[in-house]
Amino acid sequence: MQSVSIFWFRRDLRITDNHGLWAALKRENPVLPLFIFDPTILERLEDHRDARVEFIHNSLSELKSNIQKQGGDLCVLHAQPLEAFKNLQSQYTIRAIYTNHDYEKYGCDRDDVIMRWAESQQIKFHTYKDQAIFEKNEVLSGQGTPYTVFTPYSRKWKERLRAEPIVQFPSEVLQNYLSAKFDFLSLESIGFESTGLAFPKPTVADDLIRNYGERRDFPALPGTSRLSVHLRFGTVSIRSLVLRAIGKSEVWLNELIWRDFYFNILHHFPHISTGHAFRKEYDRMEWRNNEEEFDAWKQGQTGYPIVDAGMRELNATGFMHNRVRMIVASFLVKHLLIDWRWGEAYFAAKLVDFDFSANNGGWQWAAGSGCDAAPYFRVFNPTLQTKKFDGELAYIRKWVPEFQELSYAKPIVNHEMARERVLVAYKKALAKA
Ligand SMILES: Cc1cc2nc3c(=O)[nH]c(=O)nc-3n(C[C@H](O)[C@H](O)[C@H](O)COP(=O)(O)OP(=O)(O)OC[C@H]3O[C@@H](n4cnc5c(N)ncnc54)[C@H](O)[C@@H]3O)c2cc1C
Repeated sequence: MQSVSIFWFRRDLRITDNHGLWAALKRENPVLPLFIFDPTILERLEDHRDARVEFIHNSLSELKSNIQKQGGDLCVLHAQPLEAFKNLQSQYTIRAIYTNHDYEKYGCDRDDVIMRWAESQQIKFHTYKDQAIFEKNEVLSGQGTPYTVFTPYSRKWKERLRAEPIVQFPSEVLQNYLSAKFDFLSLESIGFESTGLAFPKPTVADDLIRNYGERRDFPALPGTSRLSVHLRFGTVSIRSLVLRAIGKSEVWLNELIWRDFYFNILHHFPHISTGHAFRKEYDRMEWRNNEEEFDAWKQGQTGYPIVDAGMRELNATGFMHNRVRMIVASFLVKHLLIDWRWGEAYFAAKLVDFDFSANNGGWQWAAGSGCDAAPYFRVFNPTLQTKKFDGELAYIRKWVPEFQELSYAKPIVNHEMARERVLVAYKKALAKA
């Protein structure tokens, strides 16, 4: 049997500047590039027209063709990862498995299983940092503890970057692939269908980065990069984006650092993966959890045009502008007193760029229970937010064209009453022993 190294793609679906792929291709054994559609993950998806699965499928098709140009081919399997590796072991002598780090709980547990199996078979298991610039214990406070507030974290992050400039990994120029041909799985064969959604391009213009600070908060403008889905699945390299940001926009660089920050929170505070508030005292909140109101929020029928516009954008495209994510999240938690976990789960089902750490961080920020939270007594006023960020109503007109007509939903809650109500509820929860 032929000796091979396996490179296992997951959230790094590119051949350019891919750390683990580069490490595998540098060694002597030819590399068999592998992607596994994991039924445990796919079975959790309720809708068989899931844009994430389609995005991955499209990206694999492009990856396959890029690897073919380098003399190899991408092997795509639909199996439990351990079964997939055992199956490959019956066809090849696997010398080593290379992959990049995962930070989410399911991914870490899965990797432990594969690593232990590999060790039992005398197969080396190597993993690399690729998704983040700094991870795990690389950015700690002077006392050696993890940061829980963004600003000091970002200061230390930047200090470290100055001391340790970015090194890229030119995996795209290496050609040590196994010469083999593999069939490609169709979307239908793994139980999914096309959604017909158009995905944003994996590119960002220098001008957009330069003007980001002034334009990023206005949802009617194309003022943000729309790279989140590409960062989620690694179809762009975070290192290349940070290099682009430096010197052009400190504000955009900070957004990229937020991403590392939330990976860092997930790594150091695993209780957030099991449904707990980062600040555990917030788990004492008594939510109203009215299902009809939750439905109205989901459908974009709350009678608050900016909230409804955001929810309709999400339902139609799988994306929502960041400013509007903050407004709709605050509205659900503060105006309707619905558990932030319900909103988190709805976003998780709908967002094409869904990422556990950023989503959980965003929801807990809105609920006031997070690491770097807006204080609970700050309740966004949707009307003032609209004046500030959609003054010409262009975003609202696009998504809620009937908003000035009689047919448009009446507000499901009064702002002032809701504000008073939520302040009382938070005070009560936090006053308990
Ligand atoms: C309630 C809530 C839920 C969210 N859920 C997600 C999610 O599931 N996945 C996700 O990628 N982002 C999430 N965000 C963060 C943010 O809204 C999106 O990253 C951003 O809107 C994506 O648009 P963009 O690519 O144009 O970003 P840009 O504004 O161009 O920013 C560049 C990149 O920086 C990263 N980034 C920006 N803001 C944040 C942030 N606050 N936290 C972490 N990373 C950030 C993203 O990778 C983004 O693509 C959430 C925010 C809130 C308030």
